[in-house]
Amino acid sequence: MGAIDDKTIVTQYFNSTGFDRWRRIYGDGQVNKVQLDIRKGHQQTVDTVLDWLQADGNLSGLSVCDAGCGVGSLSIPLAQGGARVLGSDISEKMVAEAYERAKNTLIKTDNVSFATQDLEVLSGSFHTVICLDVLIHYPQEKAAEMISHLCSLAESRVILSFAPKTLYLSLLKKVGELFPGPSKTTRAYQHREADIVKILESQGFSINRQASISTSFYFCRLLEGVR
Ligand code: SAH
Repeated sequence: MGAIDDKTIVTQYFNSTGFDRWRRIYGDGQVNKVQLDIRKGHQQTVDTVLDWLQADGNLSGLSVCDAGCGVGSLSIPLAQGGARVLGSDISEKMVAEAYERAKNTLIKTDNVSFATQDLEVLSGSFHTVICLDVLIHYPQEKAAEMISHLCSLAESRVILSFAPKTLYLSLLKKVGELFPGPSKTTRAYQHREADIVKILESQGFSINRQASISTSFYFCRLLEGVR
């Protein structure tokens, strides 16, 4: 164990080099091939969630918490669809960018707000709590507490995405670690689906919808838990 914990490293990363990298990936400007592949994969994750929520037909007025909202890739279209959204992120730079994008994209911004906050200290009550591509920053032993907290904020539903722990990905990761690039400054944690499901079930949720999204460099498992 190093002196600096994962969360401090993640916060610093997303306020510096990580901010620059992910703002570009989650944008529409020129990026390299790998980043473009990740952008497409991530967009599929966002689109899948939007499809699920739109299919339910009650998006207008629905209260949603987008925990670890990044630059607002999900918060903004949700607000566009009429949901009441709180997007929060531990990185103030990501939050500032999300706010800027919301102002530039949305006709009205009164149903979306953004806050710089660690999701583990979020309070309040939301119909739906969504947390996309954040668990990759959480080691397994920290995941239960984090997910349980998100569940405590959710009246009806939690939607989570994570990088699935599979043999293939574990190997890929090992190979990747042999060639660390300049931006790979955070550790990436994969999770076993069975572990995540067990945590959700322990909080009174059962799995309602699920999806797998994968491109060449982006791997994601998406679960919807409902009470
Ligand atoms: N959910 C967004 C962003 C994913 S990138 C999307 O899918 O587009 C991961 C984000 O999680 C980063 O913006 C990072 O700052 C944030 N994050 C990591 N740990 C966090 C924590 N404990 N609380 C809140 N945000 C966190």
